[in-house]
Amino acid sequence: MFEPSAQIESLLTAVALKPPAAEGMRAMMQRESEFPSPSQARLTGIALDPYGREFADQVMDAYWSDETRQQNTLNSSGTDREVIIGSGFHAAAYAAVRVLSGYPRPLVLERNERVGGTFAMTARPTFYLNSRNRAGRAGLAGDQGASLNYLPGAPIQAANVSMVEYQTNTDMAFVIRLALAQFADVVTNANVLSVARDGTGDGTRVGTGVVIEIADRGSLPAGRVIDARGLGDPDDRDVANGTTILTFPQFMQRMAGMWPLRGVRRVAMIGGGDSAKCAVESCLGIAPQPFMAATALDRVDRIDWYADALPTTCEAWQQNIRGRYQAIGRYLRPDRFGVRRLNVLNRRAQPVALPGAGLIDGRTYDLVVLCTGNRETDIDGLGLGSFEEYTTADENVVALLHYNLPVFRVGPHARLPFTRQEREDGIADIAANAVSLFRTANKTAALAATLRATKRA
Ligand SMILES: Cc1cc2nc3c(=O)[nH]c(=O)nc-3n(C[C@H](O)[C@H](O)[C@H](O)COP(=O)(O)OP(=O)(O)OC[C@H]3O[C@@H](n4cnc5c(N)ncnc54)[C@H](O)[C@@H]3O)c2cc1C
Repeated sequence: MFEPSAQIESLLTAVALKPPAAEGMRAMMQRESEFPSPSQARLTGIALDPYGREFADQVMDAYWSDETRQQNTLNSSGTDREVIIGSGFHAAAYAAVRVLSGYPRPLVLERNERVGGTFAMTARPTFYLNSRNRAGRAGLAGDQGASLNYLPGAPIQAANVSMVEYQTNTDMAFVIRLALAQFADVVTNANVLSVARDGTGDGTRVGTGVVIEIADRGSLPAGRVIDARGLGDPDDRDVANGTTILTFPQFMQRMAGMWPLRGVRRVAMIGGGDSAKCAVESCLGIAPQPFMAATALDRVDRIDWYADALPTTCEAWQQNIRGRYQAIGRYLRPDRFGVRRLNVLNRRAQPVALPGAGLIDGRTYDLVVLCTGNRETDIDGLGLGSFEEYTTADENVVALLHYNLPVFRVGPHARLPFTRQEREDGIADIAANAVSLFRTANKTAALAATLRATKRA
């Protein structure tokens, strides 16, 4: 039976006390018998009502940003506490399974203001997921009965919050945020700088835990660290200038703001992965509708897409690119008047910032978007070279374990290679599956379900 946490309980009360935000919640009570518990029916009702969801997001943000609560939470950490770095999908999955397995709520440290990781990079929807929206439990891509966006243990699943085939980033973010509100204590604006062995032993030995140093917040003892930092930070962030040359997250922030494409007629997109495809969709008007944006006011006329391994024609696109991104292909041919909005240029590009424009190979652009991949930002003591594969009793590699600290890397941050089974199942055929939730969720859940309790030093 689902027992709401104090934070979820206060969220339900806050929504109930605000009648315009409570309409979805009230309506869903007519179908209460279809849910495992009344609270899950209420949360689904809130998620399905745009105003209810917006209000609930605000309530959660206000709770998480409360400085006194944050300080008390940090002060309460001890050498038996489990601390998770990052507040994304994997933090939520670990916390949920851990608590449901009978262990205390982990403490989550998030460097950003906003809780929820990659999918929460914007508060308004800005991109569509590429994994289909299906009901069911977690499972593999080819398994039609499995949910590809299943968050183990979450109060409600992604399939509860919308019925479109491909959901928005904020649909998934809402599920992650509710799971963290239910199963974790989250402190935002907590940028972890280093993790080291706890030096407070009994004089003859060092402690069994670690000390975590947080920027501007001092240090924190912990019994175990789950390092869930996701995909990392944009590779080319030093090239971006924040105005005419943007990284993918900066571009999505812009798309979530007021009239995001004002004055943008010519765009250069650099990089050929899923982020670039989502950004191209935004420019073409086939991404989620931006706030206060209208074709009559702002329209991108031309997108030059610098990517060395993408099809350049509509036909080749149809044959080689997976279903989720097929809609882009039709912009790779001229319309009946010979106008073509999208051009793939099979080469790499390095932009130069000019006043008010970006320059590539002699062409100027109103906006250049860098989608050139991610790299890890160092945390002292947690370099990748200090980790080795960690195997559960069923002989599955589910995470990386630090060779002398109680620290695990989970999710994409563990960079686990495809297994033989994943190759046989065809999962490895799509490189982007390396970071797919359906691949990594169960590994993190298995870790959370099987690790022993941490001991007080
Ligand atoms: C555009 C795009 C679309 C995607 N679509 C899909 C999809 O449809 N389906 C799918 O399965 N996967 C998709 N993915 C991949 C998926 O987003 C990731 O695999 C997933 O978000 C990883 O979750 P995570 O919890 O490991 O990390 P994240 O969600 O990235 O969260 C990591 C968090 O760690 C925080 N952090 C980093 N460093 C520190 C520090 N030093 N101190 C404190 N906090 C820190 C970050 O701020 C961040 O909030 C997509 C990715 C992108 C970029």
